[in-house]
Amino acid sequence: MRKLASIRQIAEIKPHTNADALELAIVDGWQCVVKKGEVRPGDFVVYFEVDSVLPINPLFEFLRKSCYVKKDWLPAGEGFRLKTIKLRGEISQGLVLPLETVFPTATGLPVLGQDVTEILGVVKWDPPMPAQLQGLARGVFPSFIQKTDQERIQNVWEEVKEKYDDVTFEVTIKLDGSSCTYYHNEGDVGVCSRNLNLKLEGNDNNSFVKFAVKNNILEALKAVGDNIAIQGELIGPGIQGNREKLNDIDFFVFDVYLINDQRHATPAERMFILEKIKALTGVEFKHVPILGETTLERFGTIEEILNYAEGRSLNNEIREGVVFKSVVVIEGRVPSFKVISNKFLLNEK
Ligand code: AMP
Ligand code: MN
Repeated sequence: MRKLASIRQIAEIKPHTNADALELAIVDGWQCVVKKGEVRPGDFVVYFEVDSVLPINPLFEFLRKSCYVKKDWLPAGEGFRLKTIKLRGEISQGLVLPLETVFPTATGLPVLGQDVTEILGVVKWDPPMPAQLQGLARGVFPSFIQKTDQERIQNVWEEVKEKYDDVTFEVTIKLDGSSCTYYHNEGDVGVCSRNLNLKLEGNDNNSFVKFAVKNNILEALKAVGDNIAIQGELIGPGIQGNREKLNDIDFFVFDVYLINDQRHATPAERMFILEKIKALTGVEFKHVPILGETTLERFGTIEEILNYAEGRSLNNEIREGVVFKSVVVIEGRVPSFKVISNKFLLNEK
């Protein structure tokens, strides 16, 4: 589960360029507009990330006017949703509240990074999948494959700059659809949505399964025989507003997972495997657009990498963002993270 609400420390306070009564609080890589004087550098706060839905609670009533949402699929049916917004011209992401405001009885030294999502009843804004993607489940997502989640740069900026500054990363465009995994493992094949392993029989209306059947993907993976998962984004009509304006559902690979090694393939290994599948079976995968390779040295500040994430995608002036993946294995894994476009977030419905 994502840490939507956690105890963090104010790194810096900057003046608001356009409002005397407001300031910018910097928490890790996030910028949040706050009332002037509410918090100071070094203060411990509760920070709520964007995509949080806060419960109905007197503490959060001040959000009612701007954030109230009512949805059947929310566990409580309603709440206060935090989105990326501009306040008087400055980007504001998430919510900063002084620790004492949220936990008046807290004593002793706060635990930096403590996850308070559950105890505050915060849940993720996560609308249900459209019917064509839901499908009948064979089980949960297989434990021998890693899910496709990516950490946001705002939460890991300092860490990646320190650890991976001179590491070369592949940069790909993040396509906004629905995560899909096709796998072969010891003779067994399967199709997974973001969180489920789907039934192959009786799921004829499911877009993930349909695409696999139409393109002979599972037969190909079985014929090749490697224990691998091909992970990609299913995009097209009816999915996330079809931002790429496709006429038909299509699948774009962004990762290959090596089941025996329990890690992602490097970009070169990924391309090698995709070419091998093509040569042996004729099954050809599309790949998410590759912007190129870079180290992080060219980005002096988080603002610079956020700016770099802006730009067009396949058929849209505003892309969702970019994903960085190391071209080498480091300590047994391929480090990666996502950088979401603020333009995209400001346009979110
Ligand atoms: P999010 O959708 O914000 O949870 O970000 C992670 C998801 O982005 C992954 O689960 C993938 O489904 C999706 N994604 C789309 N394009 C890419 C890409 N180029 N590299 C990695 N993940 C991607
Ligand atoms: Mn997504």
